[in-house]
Formats: sequence, structure tokens, C-alpha cells
Amino acid sequence: MLLLLGVCGLLFQIIKSRTFQFFGEIYPRIETQQKVVALTFDDGPTRKHTDEILSILREENVKATFYLTGSAIEENQGETEKLIAEGHEIGNHTYRHKQMILVTPGVIKNEIETTDELIKKAGYKGEITFRPPFGKKLFALPFYLSEHNRKTITWDVEPETFVERSEDIIKYTLENTKNGSIILLHVAFDRRAESMKSVRPIIKGLREKRFEFKTVSELLSIKN
Ligand SMILES: [Zn+2]
Repeated sequence: MLLLLGVCGLLFQIIKSRTFQFFGEIYPRIETQQKVVALTFDDGPTRKHTDEILSILREENVKATFYLTGSAIEENQGETEKLIAEGHEIGNHTYRHKQMILVTPGVIKNEIETTDELIKKAGYKGEITFRPPFGKKLFALPFYLSEHNRKTITWDVEPETFVERSEDIIKYTLENTKNGSIILLHVAFDRRAESMKSVRPIIKGLREKRFEFKTVSELLSIKN
């Protein structure tokens, strides 16, 4: 009984680990001496909030990485095309944004490949990295990704997990970002207004600390 509890506890840690999975490459950040950082935004695109984040990034001259879901791409084709047209990187965040634990290999393949196709159909040409919904994975998902030479991208800075108000999100991010960090924010929904408000101050604050903004694949190429 104790052993079983122990095994379950360990599996639970592995499911939510940002730094370990059983197969393939996973990156919560990259090791580097350079002052580089990637801003990443999960979920969406949504009709209501894409223009706002785009205009902030345009004014600050930052290229970010957006992990989009296939279902939202389908609903908001125009927003997806705008993100691509402005030079942002697009990643795959599955089709339906369900936990990819205890699902069949067929479901995983379908969730990922349908979304890849939608991203390409919207005009995106670059490498498409993958980020699991909720950062969760166990056996079948990493196995699929590893078999298809896909990189799993997590994050090492997730301010929204610990604080709520914009000033705290900014402070937490500025204090915890290191060389090669990958920052996770959500700005696609109304309830994320505090995060949206934090984006510009985070960019300005990190620039003051001499950080340069890269997309995820630019970060990975520095590592290589
Ligand atoms: Zn998500």
C-alpha cells in the first residue's frame, strides 16, 4: 500500500514536472551566458484580446511565441494570421486543450497533427514546438513527441501561479528571470487582465536589466 502511494506520488510529480519527461527533449529554459529570454503566451487566439497584445509587442519591438490551440485557430483564423504576419512564433498547444494523460496514442496524434495542419494552413512556415496543456504529460505524449523529433517546451518563470496583481506579476517576473529563461503568461481571456497589464512593464524592466528578447526557436538555436 505504501509502495503504491509512493509510486503514485512520484508519477504525479513527473506528470507536472517542467524539467523531466520519460522520452524526448524538454526545455524549461536554456543554459547560456547570454542575456536572452523568451516571452511565451498560452491559449487562444481570441478575437477580443489579440489586437491588444499585438500592439504592445509591436510598440516594444518584441517577437514572442504563442502556443495556440487548434480549436481557437479554427474559430479565429484572422487573429492567427495577424500573429503570423507580425513575425511572432507559433507553437502547438493541442487541439482541444485537454490533459494529455491517460489518453490513447490515436488521440494524441490527432490533437497534435490537426493543430499542426491548422497552423500551417494559416501560413506559418517555421519549426512548430509543442507545449502540453497545463504542462502535463506522462508516457504516451512524450513518446509520440520523441518519435516525431518534436521538442517539448515548458517554462521556468510562471508568475501567475504565485501572484495575482499586475504589480506582483511584474515584480515576480523581474526577480526570477535568468539568462535563457522562458516566461509563461496568459493574455487571451478577460480574467487575465492583470497579466495583459504586466506585459509592457515586464518588457521594459527586463530591457533595463539588459535582456534581449528571442522567440523559443531562437533560444534553442543559441543552445545549439
Ligand atoms: Zn494552456
